[in-house]
Amino acid sequence: MSDWKNLVRDVPDFPKTGVGFKDIMPVLADADAFADAIDALAAPWRDARIDAVMAIEARGFLLGAPLARTFGCGVVPVRKPGKLPGPVLEARYALEYGEDALQVQADAVAPGARVLLVDDVLATGGTLAAARALADGLGAEIVGASVLMELAFLGGRSRWNGTAPLHAAWTI
Ligand code: IMP
Repeated sequence: MSDWKNLVRDVPDFPKTGVGFKDIMPVLADADAFADAIDALAAPWRDARIDAVMAIEARGFLLGAPLARTFGCGVVPVRKPGKLPGPVLEARYALEYGEDALQVQADAVAPGARVLLVDDVLATGGTLAAARALADGLGAEIVGASVLMELAFLGGRSRWNGTAPLHAAWTI
């Protein structure tokens, strides 16, 4: 069995100078590693009765859709503003310079639906916190969050306030 972790690539100075980017694309491009990575994301939640996976743009889509198939549930995209038609909920979050926002369709899940938030990388935690706020806004029951990699040195976990578990398949 391949170890998907060996395929994560360090890219210095991307997307800007001084940032060390973790590139997970080689994991997705390798059939065995991709399957192992999805299994690692799914493992803690197999008995959690997930109703919907909320997948965060853009690499979260690539993980969230196969994960939803694993659970036999639907997948809901959490997107950058202006991408989703119809009424949306929006959550804003701070970046190092300025702010960004995420949106979800207002009728994406029924109130009380048991949702799992999914993304590729947890860095400073703003993205996941915003997605969580959207799930709250939908009236969903947040079962937890699953990320492929947690960059612990950036402290993002501290912004995941709440009781639902946040699981990282790999923490560095
Ligand atoms: P945060 O909001 O700082 O936690 O950043 C997390 C978001 O930025 C996620 O949606 C990731 O896709 C992306 N991201 C941040 N750092 C990396 C990285 O090193 N590799 C891949 N994606 C990253």
